[in-house]
Amino acid sequence: MFEVTGLKVNYGAIQAVRGVDFNVQDGEIVTLIGSNGAGKSTIVKTISGLLRPSAGNIVYDNRGLTHLSASRIVGAGIAQVPEGRHVFAGLSTMENLKMGAYLVPRNEQQDVLDNVFDQFPVLKERRNQDAATLSGGEQQMLAMGRALMARPKLLLLDEPSMGLAPIYIQKIFDMIKTINSQGTTVLLIEQNALQALQIANRGYVIASGNVKLSGTGQDLLADPAVQKAYLGG
Ligand code: ATP
Repeated sequence: MFEVTGLKVNYGAIQAVRGVDFNVQDGEIVTLIGSNGAGKSTIVKTISGLLRPSAGNIVYDNRGLTHLSASRIVGAGIAQVPEGRHVFAGLSTMENLKMGAYLVPRNEQQDVLDNVFDQFPVLKERRNQDAATLSGGEQQMLAMGRALMARPKLLLLDEPSMGLAPIYIQKIFDMIKTINSQGTTVLLIEQNALQALQIANRGYVIASGNVKLSGTGQDLLADPAVQKAYLGG
């Protein structure tokens, strides 16, 4: 189980996250939804070790992660797909994928790569293409594939649908479901609340750095306050 308790994160004098509690059970898809500036990305960056909390704990499988380096957090089984994809321009699709496998023993990397190519056939077709020249949707798949190359037990996805054409948005959500059904636990950060709640077992609504509401995906979809604020109804 993955658990965050009492998490506070500041940028100088700005309190971006103000005491957040949530958990993700093995096998679940859990989503954090909320509008721009709610604190969602700050939470993800803190989990992956890119930011340090001013208070609180992050525990995975009974191991405290709060003070581990980003690389050790990947080693603990948690990989992040960052907001905005951040593929490495000037490197091919294949080279980008291999960057994700730096902790995987060399003799196992081909198997991991084959699995990712099975999952995302377009990445195989485009394996020699400069990542910078892939479409937005293809870059998102590459960012997801690169994270999967680390063989994570828990995958953090920060706004995977952002800026994508509708046809890709549906594809990305379908892929998240598939990745989860194959045994990877998912923490999904999304502004696209409707689709995130539709595929999530549970969700948390983040506003102004706090958890405002939580429940099953279905309960949150049916909640009038969620509908009004996040579902355009
Ligand atoms: P978005 O979906 O727009 O990324 P978010 O919910 O992920 O929103 P955060 O990016 O976590 O929100 O931002 C939370 C708050 O922290 C916002 O008020 C934001 O302006 C502030 N913030 C984020 N990054 C920094 C930074 N590097 N320096 C100062 N303030 C920041």
